[in-house]
Amino acid sequence: MEAPGSLPSSLSALSARYGTDALAVLEQLKRTNDCSSPIALVGERLTIDRETGEIIDRYGSDQEPTGVVLLPCRNRRASRCPACSHVYGGDAFALTRAGLAGDEARGVPAALADHPRVFATLTAPSFGSVHRRVVRAGVVLPCRQRRDDPICSHGRAAACRLRHDELDPALGQAICPDCFDYEGAVLWNAFMPVLWRRTITNLPRVLASRFGLSAAIPQGSCRVRFAKVAEFQRRGLVHLHVIFRLDGPDQRVEAPPDGATTELLADVVAGAAARTSLSITRPDGGRLSIRWGAQMHVRAIRPGDEGEDSDAAVSGYVAKYATKAAESAGGLDRRIRSEFEIAHLAVSDHARRLMVACWRVGGLPEFEHLRLREWAHMLGFRGHFLTKARRYSVTFGELRSARMRYRAELALIARGDADDSLRNRPSALVVRRFTFAGAARAVVSPHETGGRP
Ligand SMILES: [Zn+2]
Ligand SMILES: [Zn+2]
Ligand SMILES: [Zn+2]
Repeated sequence: MEAPGSLPSSLSALSARYGTDALAVLEQLKRTNDCSSPIALVGERLTIDRETGEIIDRYGSDQEPTGVVLLPCRNRRASRCPACSHVYGGDAFALTRAGLAGDEARGVPAALADHPRVFATLTAPSFGSVHRRVVRAGVVLPCRQRRDDPICSHGRAAACRLRHDELDPALGQAICPDCFDYEGAVLWNAFMPVLWRRTITNLPRVLASRFGLSAAIPQGSCRVRFAKVAEFQRRGLVHLHVIFRLDGPDQRVEAPPDGATTELLADVVAGAAARTSLSITRPDGGRLSIRWGAQMHVRAIRPGDEGEDSDAAVSGYVAKYATKAAESAGGLDRRIRSEFEIAHLAVSDHARRLMVACWRVGGLPEFEHLRLREWAHMLGFRGHFLTKARRYSVTFGELRSARMRYRAELALIARGDADDSLRNRPSALVVRRFTFAGAARAVVSPHETGGRP
């Protein structure tokens, strides 16, 4: 018999192995939500009456047609598992939206829709000119037009008159790779989480200084809560899309005092971002200032589902970026093991130079704590993609357990066993004994089973 968890990779192989059970196997796969690399477990779950010792209910991997319990891999990245990424994106949307429109069923008050909220994009500063697509009033403009046609010190044209197509692979690539500061770029990616934490720390201070001007709002009477998602730009630098919401001072989500407006919040966010920076030492002993780029957009979020800056649109952006990683900037979605591997990866020249910079700087003892080699596939960034303040809204865990409860109920109904009063009696004790039996990499593609893509 083959190792548990290894499943046939085609329909014909599936029916050859399982015969008349093949349909039941497909049913089981479907319950992983068409996950492309489910986790296989063996074991059982017993519900025991702790007073009488009687086994009220048993569910075991031996009851499954494959002999294993299959769980979805839950990878958030679309490039790794389209199906699990889809579920993750849905959860990201739900929890982001709950922080904007409320979710009364999960204890998030709908009244928070009236709080001041802004959507800010915090970018990286420039580390050298890259090819870009400039669109103004629906017209694509030349990439970098200069009247004097300058030549850089490497003898390359520093301007570019091309009007780049949206899919042009040149976009985000350096105009002169020798001028581009690859080392500075990966150090910025590595230090960005620190810059973010300091910006958040500065928020209350800036808020207090703005409130100092308005006697109507006492100090400490507001809290700024946020949800943020990181996105890789084509030039290989990370930027942040952040929802900021102004709440009252309490631990519970309550309304901020009168006079705390959207304009004030936008002003506070822009002020905190502009005044926050840190200075680090480069490998050559020079200084590098880690700060946000000057191109900062802060806009008000409109309540409702309609329009570009609505609750729904903003939540949609966050969910979309939450399922991506460095691969959208020509990076990789998996770790790199050697410098030799970098030289042979099918990535853009720009991404390769960023990875080489990670490898080189990561090998220096004074930069060891940044773990740049471990994170070379992410171009130096080792932060989380989607994070939020504790009381922004619901959590991924709450959404997942609600889904599991719902599925468990459906399964009971399917077994003709909806009456679970036995299992719910106070003396019932649930014992789970499962062990990992491998990652079931080769599964029937959802396309072959006619499932959703
Ligand atoms: Zn999966
Ligand atoms: Zn160009
Ligand atoms: Zn140059």
